[in-house]
Amino acid sequence: MNKVRTRFAPSPTGFMHIGNLRTCLYAYLFAKKNNGTFVLRIEDTDQERYVEGAVDVIYSTLKKAGIEHDEGPDKDGGYGPYIQSQRKSLYLDYAKELVEKGGAYYCFCDKARLESLKDGNGVAKYDKHCLSLSKEEVEKRLANGEQYVIRQNIPTDGVSEYEDMVFGHISVPNEDMEDGVLIKSDGMPTYNFANVVDDHLMAINYVIRGVEYLSSTPKYNLMYDAFGWERPHYMHLSPIMKDAQRKLSKRYGDANFEDFLDKGYLPEAIVNYIALLGWSPKGTDEKLSMQQLKEQFDVDGISKSPSIFDEAKMRWLNGEYIKQMPPTEFAEVARPYFEQSKVAGKYDYTELAKLLIPRVEILGEIPEKVNFLEEFGKYDTSMYEHKKMKITKELALANLVAIREELKDVDDWSDGNLKQLGTALAEKLGIKSGQIFLPLRLAITGAQSTPGGATEMAELLGKEESMRRLDFSIELLSKESI
Ligand code: GLU
Repeated sequence: MNKVRTRFAPSPTGFMHIGNLRTCLYAYLFAKKNNGTFVLRIEDTDQERYVEGAVDVIYSTLKKAGIEHDEGPDKDGGYGPYIQSQRKSLYLDYAKELVEKGGAYYCFCDKARLESLKDGNGVAKYDKHCLSLSKEEVEKRLANGEQYVIRQNIPTDGVSEYEDMVFGHISVPNEDMEDGVLIKSDGMPTYNFANVVDDHLMAINYVIRGVEYLSSTPKYNLMYDAFGWERPHYMHLSPIMKDAQRKLSKRYGDANFEDFLDKGYLPEAIVNYIALLGWSPKGTDEKLSMQQLKEQFDVDGISKSPSIFDEAKMRWLNGEYIKQMPPTEFAEVARPYFEQSKVAGKYDYTELAKLLIPRVEILGEIPEKVNFLEEFGKYDTSMYEHKKMKITKELALANLVAIREELKDVDDWSDGNLKQLGTALAEKLGIKSGQIFLPLRLAITGAQSTPGGATEMAELLGKEESMRRLDFSIELLSKESI
């Protein structure tokens, strides 16, 4: 068997759609699973879509996602150039060869004639008008410098068939296909032509791409056949949907890889999650490293039906990745989020990391979880009331006064010691420890939700600041009760 060669062929649009990243990932995983080669090819011939700096977005995305191409513009493997615009000169020669072989023909029809072919719905199907031109006539018109395009010559009867590795048997009646343009009047190839020539010349034998190309593939196969080239195998992938009706779209802000990184998702969690969008591993484990994905990926697990992007699930998975991070590593990746928060530069991020790791799912939650450390001030005392714990403002005040007494002369201001003191006090007073700790936490943070319990927060704040806040809160409650 020939060595497996797959490719990812993005157009440089300036951002990486989650669906494209998944296509890329599957092409990569399939190559790696089969000890094959994964090629990166930049499809930049559509100049209208060209965006400055967009190629860098492609490189940086692959790098962050941990997808390593074996060949590409920056890694020559002998099949280059790997940037389509640098291959321009090649396509016309191949198109001419296809004309010689009967798979294509010159067309000189002008706009007006093409317009006249449109039916009531404005849809035109080219009528092969120029196919009947004699060779001499074509040469004469070319010599005269007339504008032309080159069209594919598709048989008018019969069916075109192939086996898709995901969708199975695909069969399209030839009469349903149009003699599409392969070379435009400016001499540039269309995607329909370039993908065939490039995939063949780059020896791509497994074409993995979006399902939108499923029904055009018979056309491409007709070209492979007319050239006398071996057809590749195909794997088409169903779209990723936002819900039953809508695809993920950059417009809704739910499709761009970078946007998710900005929200504080870890690239390895995104990659893990999207691997599962449309593919099911044989085992039940859903948290899979790139290495595990490479080992386990198989075509049987790929689904034909569209998958729904469930951000809540990705968030959960991200939380699982975070839980396994050592605090120093968390502090490092979370640094930008700490820097954006009010605690920037004021606390030891590794200490904060220890509290946050079990409590955040995405890094973007960090500022809201730590800002209270610097925001303490007047707060709504009704927050002390807790029906289930039978805490009233009066009880809260009494318990705060009592715990203050216990704490004021304490030297060992550690979470463990403070917890013990609080628990002992509760026992002495014959109340639940929550009736001490809940008010205490509120008293020193002023916030209803915090990244840790009362004594953890106290340790973080230190004795002096904790006592200052406790006194403030006692005063706040006493004033109200007068
Ligand atoms: N440049 C095409 C796209 O971005 C690639 C399609 C393919 O993989 O053949 O959709």
